Amino acid sequence: MSAQELYEVYAIKYATRDARRADHFIGGDPHDAPMPMDYFVWVARSPSHTFVIDTGFTKPVADARKRVHLRCPVESLKLIGVDPVAVKDVIQTHLHYDHVGNFDKFPNATFHLQEKEMQYATGRYVRYEKIGHSFEVDDIVGMVRLNYKGRVEFYDGSAELADGLWIHPAPGHSAGLQFVRCRTRRGWVVVASDVAHYYEHISSLRPFTTLVHVGEMLDGYRRLGKMMAKGDHVVPGHDPEVMKRHPPARPDLEGIVARLD
Ligand SMILES: [Zn+2]
Repeated sequence: MSAQELYEVYAIKYATRDARRADHFIGGDPHDAPMPMDYFVWVARSPSHTFVIDTGFTKPVADARKRVHLRCPVESLKLIGVDPVAVKDVIQTHLHYDHVGNFDKFPNATFHLQEKEMQYATGRYVRYEKIGHSFEVDDIVGMVRLNYKGRVEFYDGSAELADGLWIHPAPGHSAGLQFVRCRTRRGWVVVASDVAHYYEHISSLRPFTTLVHVGEMLDGYRRLGKMMAKGDHVVPGHDPEVMKRHPPARPDLEGIVARLD
């Protein structure tokens, strides 16, 4: 491994849904208008490591929740030459249904998770529909089973998983949410996942509608804003702008796989 490992970073869009601005801000929005939501998984790859970041949801879950499933996120890894069977490391930013489905399609991976997220997803508050509806219980049971097999690596704070690739907790939207920061040829790329759903959350500091703690969520937005001001390239978790602001990984992958590094 070189001392200055550089990562290629990809966003793969696997689903979408129509939504309105009022869906995405607490208190609604005075100029309600369409604000569709895209769903992604991400890959950070260096000469010596491949990290898959989140695993998306399945077609049956998409149908049940009325999301438009465009492609299997795990099958789509093959578009950039990643074989899911060979993947050794999956970073779970959190355990919401749109980030942790398909975990069973990585038979040889270790899953990297903040311990607080497992405690949250198996804890007292999931009895409330407002909290529990963000999880698929079968996914959570699946992660518990993986833990019994020694395949979940838990963290309580930041960690450098490989040279130039960090995870950092940033709760608010979920109790054990984390983001990924990796060194690339154009500087640090921050895969924010749901620390910010849209660029507009960071710029406006208006909170998203699914959350555990509004102050922590706003702290997360401000932290991302500070990183952007320093020159980091911050990529929010659900913004269709991601595909517009970044080039496709190959011309034939326009609108499907964006290159973030
Ligand atoms: Zn999400």
